[in-house]
Amino acid sequence: MSSETKTPDKFTIINELARRRGFFWQSYEIYGGVSGFVTYGFLGAKLKQNIEKKLRELFVNKLRILEIESPVIAPSKVFEASGHVDHFKEPMVECQKCKRRFRADHLLQEFAKIGESEAEKLSLKELKEAIEKHEIRCPECGGTFGEPKYFLTMFKTAIGPYSEAVGYGRPEAAQGIFVEFRRLYDMAREKLPFGALQIGHALRNEISPRQGLIRLREFTIIDLEFFFDPEEPNCFLLKDVENETLRMVLAESKLRGSEEIVEVTVKEALEKSYIKAEWQAVFMALAKKLLVDLGVPAEKQRFIEKLPWERAHYALQSFDQEVYVERWGWVEVSGHAYRTDYDLKRHMQFSGADMRVFKEYEKPVETEQTVIKPLMAKLGPVFKEEAAKVAEVLSKADPEDVEASIKKNGYYMLGEYKILPEYVEIARQKVKERGKRFVPHVVEPSFGSDRMVQFALEYAYRVKDDRSVLSFPRDIAPIQVGVYPLVSKDGLPEKALQVYKMLLDEGFMVEYDEAGSIGRRYARADEIGIPLGITVDYETLKDNTVTIRDRDSWKQVRSGIEDLPELLHKYFRWKANFEDLGKPF
Ligand code: AMP
Repeated sequence: MSSETKTPDKFTIINELARRRGFFWQSYEIYGGVSGFVTYGFLGAKLKQNIEKKLRELFVNKLRILEIESPVIAPSKVFEASGHVDHFKEPMVECQKCKRRFRADHLLQEFAKIGESEAEKLSLKELKEAIEKHEIRCPECGGTFGEPKYFLTMFKTAIGPYSEAVGYGRPEAAQGIFVEFRRLYDMAREKLPFGALQIGHALRNEISPRQGLIRLREFTIIDLEFFFDPEEPNCFLLKDVENETLRMVLAESKLRGSEEIVEVTVKEALEKSYIKAEWQAVFMALAKKLLVDLGVPAEKQRFIEKLPWERAHYALQSFDQEVYVERWGWVEVSGHAYRTDYDLKRHMQFSGADMRVFKEYEKPVETEQTVIKPLMAKLGPVFKEEAAKVAEVLSKADPEDVEASIKKNGYYMLGEYKILPEYVEIARQKVKERGKRFVPHVVEPSFGSDRMVQFALEYAYRVKDDRSVLSFPRDIAPIQVGVYPLVSKDGLPEKALQVYKMLLDEGFMVEYDEAGSIGRRYARADEIGIPLGITVDYETLKDNTVTIRDRDSWKQVRSGIEDLPELLHKYFRWKANFEDLGKPF
């Protein structure tokens, strides 16, 4: 819409600036470009790395978090177990005239102003009726749409030369963590709680992505899976963040058709049971802080609770952290899901691997236990060569679950195997137990790096005296310091290069620039968000001092070259203000 209006909106301005200055642009440009893929230039890649570094500082370093890297392609079994093959689908309609395809629910949101939650709830039949009722036509050619269909948004491939060895590009990095749980638990010294984090590319074959960095087909996901004992759900970091406020839109308000924001402290949110898991509440508080540190004010953020039908298939409770942006309104930046023991249990059922952990009691206890005895005489004829595996996995399933399901449904689903009552004997026995085995619970914060880049850019963008400035928080700016000779003669470049080299050796991200007038160099530096500019002038040759210029206020101070390393280290660690860097100039 707005790309055609007279004054371009922030989204258009940022995308234009990003392309022109080399933060990012659409990939495969020389072949006409492909929607949903971007290439980051040096500045964008650095900004993204700095954002990820901030996230690591907040989430990884203080907690027992193991960072790992797993493959992007996985055999289909992994995503059958995780439920993605059945659930990772979006409703799609095709224009009967130009054959372009669109997300049916997104069309209703955009052209019929139906809320996201309402649109997500609709069945294929209801989507069709709503599209007809609102007379929605193809945004590209005005054609009418055919029947809505579901489209699996995972990229499918074949692993190796055998087409039956189906693989999928991962739509999230979480499964790469769950499938490695046993090894990770071992590395965590067999102690809960602990977490595993993965930052890497995820692939989603989005139907018609038209939102730049916000909706990509290949993007960077940050999945943190935090494993804990549901009987010991207390979070040791709670004290640090319990007074932090969260702006929340609760499911009960949404059910009333309202998006009313309640502002509560983390402590209150837990006391009032707005948030079920303590760890989840703490991660939400850290996520808020992260976005504040990236420049998004607290009042432009909110956590919106997902209604049951909006939640991913694995989640017991989930919140989206959203950021308000001019063009798109509230957009999700991170998802916070309480995944319970869903994923580990599913992988246990599908693979036969034991994902349980052992917890020792203080004193052994005698209990009556339900036990499931698989009956090989019955399993053999039904499952043939798989019977032994079925028996093995069945013997590890939670007997209470098996009994309850058989009672309720007349069968128990063991992964893809249907277990009928006659295949098992259910008995009670008295046992002395030293401890128990259980499947840990998981809370997951999941961020999109690219969206954080987009939001950091949008909130950094200012106009000062008709000039664009990217006022990044100083510690995420891609380049920290620019070094400039006032003019490129009389020995000033040589002196400036010495300063440049000294700062490089000190570990700063520095740029040297002597092209064009000093005013133009400052303007370019402001537009790519360099917080400090150091200028070598004729005074420098006399007394070894330089000017330091602030990107945001354009004020300047003067200081000795030999003091620069210490002053700048302090400044970038937020231990000094600009005024502390020297004498006013
Ligand atoms: P989800 O698993 O859908 O909750 O996604 C986790 C996070 O990944 C979201 O909060 C977004 O920040 C990000 N994300 C999801 N889909 C996309 C996409 N198509 N393009 C860019 N980022 C995405």
